[in-house]
Amino acid sequence: MPSYDPNNIFAKILRGELPCYKVYEDDKVLAFLDIMPRSPGHTLVLPKAPARNILDISADDLAHVITAAQKVAKAAVKAFSADGITIQQFNEGAGGQVVFHLHLHVIPRKAGVAMKPPASEKEKPDVLAEHAKKLAAAISG
Ligand code: 5GP
Repeated sequence: MPSYDPNNIFAKILRGELPCYKVYEDDKVLAFLDIMPRSPGHTLVLPKAPARNILDISADDLAHVITAAQKVAKAAVKAFSADGITIQQFNEGAGGQVVFHLHLHVIPRKAGVAMKPPASEKEKPDVLAEHAKKLAAAISG
């Protein structure tokens, strides 16, 4: 398996070298909006530890990521009146992974509404800013 590349785009976001629409942060985890959401509120939850995917992350860091994803999922039900939540996570190119820093997709769903295809459309910055604010408020409140 290839080793972790510290120049991947999510590593740059974690180091603050690139911006993101932050939803949640603690000492082990950062969550921010996907800029090409498959539904409104589509959030990516990452460990701060430099893990490529599920094959090289420690059990402890993985536990923190899934716990944070649960926080985001519960907040999304409130903030977006979601009827359900889809969690996705891809490993290596053959597994559908495009960005090689582990992340869980938390995707709020409405009954009867299909997800957009992956990476199909970049959302407007003002919409992303508003959605991040709503989700962050639902997590802290
Ligand atoms: P995956 O690696 O799980 O297949 O997909 C990577 C995800 O990252 C995609 O859903 C894509 O829309 C998202 N993505 C790609 N580049 C960026 C970026 O610069 N910022 C954010 N927030 N999301 C990104």
